[in-house]
Amino acid sequence: MSGVVSDIHLRNRLGPTLRERLCESADLAEVSGEPDRDLLKELRASGLLAAAVPREFGGAGGGPAEVNAIVQELAALNASVAIIAFQHFAVSARIAEWGTRRQREKLLPGLADGSCLAASAWSETGAGAAKRRLGSTGTRRGDGSWVLNGAKSFTTGASVADLYLVLVQSAEPDEDAEGVYGGSGQTFFLVGSDNPGIVPDLSLDLVGMRGSATGFVSLSECVVPDEDRLGDEGRAPEIIAGVRESGATLGAVAVGTARSALGLAVEHLRRRGLLDKPHVRHRLTELATRLEAAHAIVDRAGARTAPDPGTTTLLSKLYASTAAEEICLDVARMLGSAGYTTGARLNRVLADARAVALMGPTNDVCRELVAVSWQS
Ligand SMILES: Cc1cc2nc3c(=O)[nH]c(=O)nc-3n(C[C@H](O)[C@H](O)[C@H](O)COP(=O)(O)OP(=O)(O)OC[C@H]3O[C@@H](n4cnc5c(N)ncnc54)[C@H](O)[C@@H]3O)c2cc1C
Repeated sequence: MSGVVSDIHLRNRLGPTLRERLCESADLAEVSGEPDRDLLKELRASGLLAAAVPREFGGAGGGPAEVNAIVQELAALNASVAIIAFQHFAVSARIAEWGTRRQREKLLPGLADGSCLAASAWSETGAGAAKRRLGSTGTRRGDGSWVLNGAKSFTTGASVADLYLVLVQSAEPDEDAEGVYGGSGQTFFLVGSDNPGIVPDLSLDLVGMRGSATGFVSLSECVVPDEDRLGDEGRAPEIIAGVRESGATLGAVAVGTARSALGLAVEHLRRRGLLDKPHVRHRLTELATRLEAAHAIVDRAGARTAPDPGTTTLLSKLYASTAAEEICLDVARMLGSAGYTTGARLNRVLADARAVALMGPTNDVCRELVAVSWQS
């Protein structure tokens, strides 16, 4: 795959059976709050997870445009699965970019063929949205290996992932060197789920994204060889900064959820015979316009054609997530009382859409990251 992902490619990979399963599973997870492990097996087998892996390692050689297109398509059907895939793509891309030759040869083929699903364990209770001064630590041992201790929270894909990209504090932070997102003295490690020192826990009960296996991950005397460190010791903020430069954006998840909400509105209003009322049609047109604008900024982030692609990536998340929440709320009003029942699908879509603004970098942190560039 190169350039903008082709519709045909997506249609082939995301065939009617998988689409149906994604929809059905989203409804089930709303009630159970559990990830659908069988569906994830189908996703692994679909070939879609290869998108962000270079061809030389068995991947599809896609870039941010492909990742955004796949994530958006998944999110329109099942936002929980979309964020699991988003994290998988993000970790794949970080390994392709920052990994040693050995790490790339060892990990990328499995990330491409779906035998290895990856997750990001950066957040933790107490460290906050800026992820400075982490409580989780990495300490180097006499033999050169590391021991990780701490507790991560809100890790998407916890318990279903085979590989975690874990962020820890490996040295005291330098207060004078702090940036907006990520702190000095932090290091990334690649930890396999078969490491007995890493234990996932799905006791978080989320309002939305209920099938995303977003939970805690505890690190208890978790021993990791130095060769599983990603990037230089203490230099995680450089890798974090590179993420927003990449063009892959959670705005794609937002666009998918907004598409889904708009679809629900059209379906309901048609069924109720309200589409011949001009004010109803015009409200829908307003929403479709906002959706199109959100789609366009996500595409521009993925294409990396803006003068400053990093800023556009941040703005795409900000704009698309805000637009998606507003579209969902407007659709809720348009559904009338039919949207005010617990079983109404729109409420699940709205709860999913709300999560995007909260995911890192949060929308406030995005604003701050854009604003600081004007000060320098
Ligand atoms: C569904 C879901 C999935 C997630 N998946 C993952 C995942 O896979 N991996 C992972 O590591 N994390 C994940 N997260 C966690 C997410 O990245 C964090 O919730 C986020 O970083 C915010 O952290 P916090 O809740 O501690 O924010 P808090 O620090 O408590 O922030 C509270 C509010 O203050 C604002 N704020 C705080 N500090 C600043 C600041 N310095 N500048 C500007 N505004 C600020 C925030 O934007 C927020 O609005 C997920 C979260 C959700 C909801």
